[in-house]
Amino acid sequence: MDYFLDVVLPIPLEKLFTYKISQAEADFIQEGMRVAVPFGKTKIYTALAYRVHRNAPEAYEPKEIYQILDDHPVVTQVQLKHWEWVAQYYMCTLGEVIRSALPSAFMLESETLVLPNKNADVDEAELTDDEFLVFEALQHQSALKISEVSDIVDKKNVLKLINTLVHKGVVLQKEELYEQYKPKLVRYVKLSEQYDDEEELADLLNELTRAPKQSQVVLSLFQLKAKSTKPIPIAELEKESRASRAVIKALIDKDILEEYHIRKDRVEFDERSEASKHVDLNEYQYQALQDINKGFDNGKPVLLHGVTSSGKTEVYVKLIQQCLDEGKQALYLLPEIALTSQLINRLRHYFGHQVSVYHSKYSIHERVEVWNNVLNNAEKAQIVIGARSSLFLPFTNLGLVVVDEEHESSFKQFDPAPRYHARDAAVVLAALHKSNIVLGSATPSIESMFNAKTQKYGYASIAHRFGDVLMPDINLVDIKEATRKRRMKGHFSKTLIKAITEALEEGEQVILFQNRRGFAPVVECTTCGHVAQCPNCDVSLTYHQHRNQLRCHYCGYHMALQQACLACGSPTLDNKGFGTEQIQQELGQLFPDVKVGRMDLDTTRGKYAYEKIISSFENQEMDILVGTQMVTKGLDFRNVSLVGIMNADSMLNFPDYRAHERSFQMLTQVAGRAGRTQKRGKVLIQTYNPYHQILQQVTTNSYDKMFKEQFYEREQFKYPPLVRLIKITLKDKDFNKLNESADWMAGSLRNVLGSNILGPEYPPVARIRRDYLKNIMIKIPRNQPLAQTKNSIKRIEKSFNAISKYKSVRLVYNVDHI
Ligand code: ADP
Ligand code: ZN
Ligand code: ZN
Repeated sequence: MDYFLDVVLPIPLEKLFTYKISQAEADFIQEGMRVAVPFGKTKIYTALAYRVHRNAPEAYEPKEIYQILDDHPVVTQVQLKHWEWVAQYYMCTLGEVIRSALPSAFMLESETLVLPNKNADVDEAELTDDEFLVFEALQHQSALKISEVSDIVDKKNVLKLINTLVHKGVVLQKEELYEQYKPKLVRYVKLSEQYDDEEELADLLNELTRAPKQSQVVLSLFQLKAKSTKPIPIAELEKESRASRAVIKALIDKDILEEYHIRKDRVEFDERSEASKHVDLNEYQYQALQDINKGFDNGKPVLLHGVTSSGKTEVYVKLIQQCLDEGKQALYLLPEIALTSQLINRLRHYFGHQVSVYHSKYSIHERVEVWNNVLNNAEKAQIVIGARSSLFLPFTNLGLVVVDEEHESSFKQFDPAPRYHARDAAVVLAALHKSNIVLGSATPSIESMFNAKTQKYGYASIAHRFGDVLMPDINLVDIKEATRKRRMKGHFSKTLIKAITEALEEGEQVILFQNRRGFAPVVECTTCGHVAQCPNCDVSLTYHQHRNQLRCHYCGYHMALQQACLACGSPTLDNKGFGTEQIQQELGQLFPDVKVGRMDLDTTRGKYAYEKIISSFENQEMDILVGTQMVTKGLDFRNVSLVGIMNADSMLNFPDYRAHERSFQMLTQVAGRAGRTQKRGKVLIQTYNPYHQILQQVTTNSYDKMFKEQFYEREQFKYPPLVRLIKITLKDKDFNKLNESADWMAGSLRNVLGSNILGPEYPPVARIRRDYLKNIMIKIPRNQPLAQTKNSIKRIEKSFNAISKYKSVRLVYNVDHI
């Protein structure tokens, strides 16, 4: 009898694929190991072993696997169960989940290019013969294909070999090239600590008289130190002493000078003494901790509803401590990479080297390392902080999940599949591990609050800011009125200008929030009305002054700003609307001596870009920080006394049933950045609609009112959490075909599922990257079985795919969060 292996390929196949294996292989292979397999005519993939069995596939003659890549599973049983849930629930394939979940260094393919790692310090003696051959070949060639590596070592399958080389850091894969970007670190020098001692120093100077050049360097260092207390860059010392790098390097090698990098120093942490590690919770925090534990005892997820700056993080710290005391691992999920750098410093104060970080800006190499540490339950990975992808790590012993800022929509992944919501997937993960989970927020999502109110979740709350710091004083500024009375300078009301001036005079910092990047979202010709549009998408192009470009925020298309209208030729171009860049520019004119920083997608592209902006603002190297929603989330700045919201209206008017909830959350969160110490913080919200109920609720901090109203509306108009939603988006380059196929799809859905189908409708942006889009919305009453409904939809999809004229039409599912 033959043996067979079902594998999951990292591609969107509906079914597992079966290969033939020997008996020895069957004995060795365990679920969750990687195997290299041939697929199609020429391709080789890394696949995940799923099941060994003895039933030959009926539809095709199975091929043999090429190689087993692991000695032990790199993926656990629980992970596979969780991933199956993700695939099933979010209506994608297991292959797509795996592609997203595993670090790509695990998934070499025949098309992968292998490149030399120029930054690696390779010890040739450490390499095997085959490894050395590849290493040597890459000294002469810039890249090798997998097949070329095969030829070099004269072996059929080399994925395992390349895996080892990637792991050793000797080679890189093509995809990680962009991550090789390293921030240009400034190198600094100082005198080694031992020379703090005056006698030692005297000895040194004495000794150096025999080396006049080195002596000159040390003396110059003293002169620079006398001039200022700031760190001394090597370049400056070089200039001052007129010595060569070699001389300075000699001093560093002799441990007389010490070289250091500022960025590195920031990430470094000093372990706190036992005494300062201990934080006493105040009575409100303590009560919350007890309520959370009560919920855990009942086996429920718990919602922690604590106002901004109430000290939720310290409560999490206690929960993590409990978890570690039980010898278990903890996962701390954050919605945004930008938040990890502040949090990691805080947690390392308590837990030192037990904290690891995992997110997509980490290099492939680093990610593999964290993966293995978690799998091996290493000391270093007892606590993992991460953005949503850390949910897919191979925990073997998970005891606690913290989902911080649980209301954040950035927990949802929109592209590519799996289009999952990390908070909801975390709840399922915790259930599979039988571990505790706490969801925390100052402004809980309607869904989570609903779950708490219906006892599905436990509930704990902290209604007071820590240290009895007052909630910020929030005021609305009517800019309609101000505009009429000509009391605006650019986009700043007099009230806001005055408040900024006062804050700056007190030496305090200011955050300004505008939820659009770029300079102006619309460039219009005042003669003919023509608006510069993206040729690929149904949106106007945003003007970016810094590059003097018009850019599309959907597809990245860009062109130089034209001098004259492309339609009529008049030079009468005018901007409409405004983004962060314009605010920054106006600030330059209003406050010429003030340092203004900006945090948005355009300024945070590099690996350390967030950290640089955040720490520079923390260190008060800037006075004002202008930003998009990135500045609203959970950051803890001590010296910010004023938060200004440039315009609250665009958010409120967004065509989405969650727009009001989101506006409330965003405004409350950004307001929460103000006055986190003793002095009461101030918040100014500029708006054309000061009587809007959401703005009223924000200023009076009325979460409960907001919840009641929004919940009522969702009941009235049948939206989650009262029904479940699935959105199907159809995409095609051919407008007519799209419409016809969307009608077919909606019709079939109505035939099977009845009346709860809305659409097809064009979304607000109805064309993106040359694809026309149309949405069909399915509302599923809570008493209707969800899995069954999804199966019906999938069956309709099968019939749809069988219609040859619709072949080019792509279907995208979004479940719950659309
Ligand atoms: P939140 O996460 O709820 O916004 P934080 O956890 O950031 O609030 O707490 C706000 C500030 O109060 C932080 O600077 C934190 O260090 C401080 N803090 C909170 N709880 C305590 C405590 N029990 N003892 C000392 N300081 C605390
Ligand atoms: Zn024109
Ligand atoms: Zn575009």
